[in-house]
Amino acid sequence: MNTPSLMHYLDESLTCAEAAEDPRDYLGISQLGRCARASGMALKPDVYPAAVQLESLRFWHEGHTAEDDIVARLQRAGCPVYSRQLKVTFPERHPLHERVWGHIDGEVPLVPAKAEGLGVAGAAPRLDLAILEIKSLRAGALKKLATEGTVSQAWPQYGIQAHTYALCRGRHWVAFLVKDRNDGTIVECWESFRADLAESGIAQGLRVLSDLDAGQLSGRDYNPGSDWQCRKEYCQFRDHCLRAGA
Ligand code: SF4
Repeated sequence: MNTPSLMHYLDESLTCAEAAEDPRDYLGISQLGRCARASGMALKPDVYPAAVQLESLRFWHEGHTAEDDIVARLQRAGCPVYSRQLKVTFPERHPLHERVWGHIDGEVPLVPAKAEGLGVAGAAPRLDLAILEIKSLRAGALKKLATEGTVSQAWPQYGIQAHTYALCRGRHWVAFLVKDRNDGTIVECWESFRADLAESGIAQGLRVLSDLDAGQLSGRDYNPGSDWQCRKEYCQFRDHCLRAGA
């Protein structure tokens, strides 16, 4: 009798968890700034089933694990993290209200400090809070951050995502923590609110949803022949995209 390897069990746990997820019926704020065509197809799983690579599942799992770890370390050291995994959407009467939403990693005081008596859960006290956005990236990522200066310049899609959260929450700051998976180094990067990035996210959301409502795919934002965003481990809809033409 063959005994499955431990790797088999570990990978199986990821694929089972993925299969048990309900398909999304909303556009995630974390999708804004990514390819509009891929975002639209993700909302039509019956027509465009996602081809999720095991490599992607492992990568996402590592990202979630890093988020939990970093938040726990902040809290242990006395830095309060509010609104952990809070659902955030656009205000009522906004055309994206409850059609585009997501969960934030948390919110932190503008000047992180020992939080005597503030606690870490429940309603936030009257402090100026910043959106906390945690990223865990492959080796070498921090070099790009050092070259570009800010997260939003190095990876515009992360900027669009975080500043859209800031807009929805009425926050004036975003605090990024970017972890290098290679050696565990974490870089802290604060950005003041950028309305241009949030507006770009709104425009993208409107585009995806209006194309969907019209029963059509959005145009390609990347070139499948040359852009890394179109590689199979990054785009689960590559085959559908190629079949559908430009
Ligand atoms: S293959 Fe590229 S252009 Fe096509 S949906 Fe994916 S990311 Fe977009």
